[in-house]
Amino acid sequence: MSRVLVIGCGGVASTAIQKCCQADDIFTDLCIASRTRAKCDALAARLRGRTSANITTAQVDADNVGQLIELIRSFSPDLVMNIALPYQDLTIMDACLACGVNYMDTANYEPEDTDDPAWRAVYEKRCKEAGFSAYFDYSWQWAYRERFEKAGLTALLGCGFDPGVTQAYCAYALKHEFDQIDTIDILDCNGGDHGYPFATNFNPEVNLREVSAPGSYWENGHWIEIPAMSIKREYDFDQVGRKDMYLLHHEEIESLAQNIPGVKRIRFFMTFGQSYLTHMKCLENVGMLSTTPVSFEGHEIVPIKFLKALLPDPASLGPRTHGKTNIGCIFTGQKNGQPKTYYIYNVCDHQECYREVQSQAVSYTTGVPAMCGAMMLLTGRWNIPGVHTVEELDPDPFLEALDRYGLPRSESRSPALVD
Ligand code: NDP
Repeated sequence: MSRVLVIGCGGVASTAIQKCCQADDIFTDLCIASRTRAKCDALAARLRGRTSANITTAQVDADNVGQLIELIRSFSPDLVMNIALPYQDLTIMDACLACGVNYMDTANYEPEDTDDPAWRAVYEKRCKEAGFSAYFDYSWQWAYRERFEKAGLTALLGCGFDPGVTQAYCAYALKHEFDQIDTIDILDCNGGDHGYPFATNFNPEVNLREVSAPGSYWENGHWIEIPAMSIKREYDFDQVGRKDMYLLHHEEIESLAQNIPGVKRIRFFMTFGQSYLTHMKCLENVGMLSTTPVSFEGHEIVPIKFLKALLPDPASLGPRTHGKTNIGCIFTGQKNGQPKTYYIYNVCDHQECYREVQSQAVSYTTGVPAMCGAMMLLTGRWNIPGVHTVEELDPDPFLEALDRYGLPRSESRSPALVD
């Protein structure tokens, strides 16, 4: 019997909420709260009668700590699932601390306004000291560790697929397959086709910021940063086929570098088609990816927000997207003194996801782990006071839950390696 407050009602949240309703013996009371209440009401109406979970809805501005505290006090949840945007991570963590409630999210903090001078001063210092220049990093949320520990509360960070399941795969490899992991390659392949020349399959603003940033990887104890999309490889993915993939900076590299003892190299690759890359470069060159407001006919507009309004809503891609995703990790290392390789991954079919939850596989592969992570916290299996990323926690019950709720693992002990 648990009460869960879900903040956000976009593509990922709506999958997570529908999956929570499949486990309504655990998720007995759900409150869906977001900026646009009509979306929460529409989802709740669709679910009533199909689940025994008691579903209510609310309107909340999650940038406003006061509003969040009021909502949390009125609903008294056991857990707050933040599936809004990374911009709201800190305000929601503050409200959870004020109300004594556990917290989880699917992406680490990044500010909405990257021109804010106070944030920029910290950011520029971090770029110099740490050696990577992505707008997002864990330092802001790791700064809450002591407060969560003292309050006896758990904050679970980044519990989607990547970050999230990829780190559980690392913890699983370390626990069962290796004495020493030397290298980790995280491979994120989306073999889906939605038929548009250009669309992003999750929030466009967050997605475009991520892929237009310089790439980086961890090697021999430090970051190596490279120009965006300058390292390209081809890989033959199970059930998808050959795809071009590009090295990106990705948030889980930062925590894995700290939590996988002795790891020598961690890289992250994502597949992109040529049409996506050409459109992105063009939009970037003309300034459409900028977050700095410009004055247009007497209005202030933020180019990337305007672009978001023009692009297809990721939630609308579900019926059009065909094909599969394949996301996983390839490891090299040693077991019992012998060299070893191991690949663990999930393959997910866009149309099967759509039939089940009316979303494509990118929302599905994020929403299911969010629900399974929530289940770990509600059943006491991952409750360690403090602020934690997924690889710090026992992977076994989580991977079993993923197998059961729609994201089963596949394995290979002789995978092709990425050079
Ligand atoms: P969407 O843009 O589809 O949904 C975001 C939701 O948050 C919307 O319902 C939006 O409301 C709501 N929201 C935004 N701002 C506020 C606010 N100030 N107050 C209250 N609600 C707000 O995003 P996605 O569902 O695609 O992504 C959700 C999260 O998942 C993001 O953090 C994203 O980075 C993360 N993600 C993680 C992945 C992983 O593998 N770990 C992969 C993909 C995404 P409204 O409807 O009014 O706009």
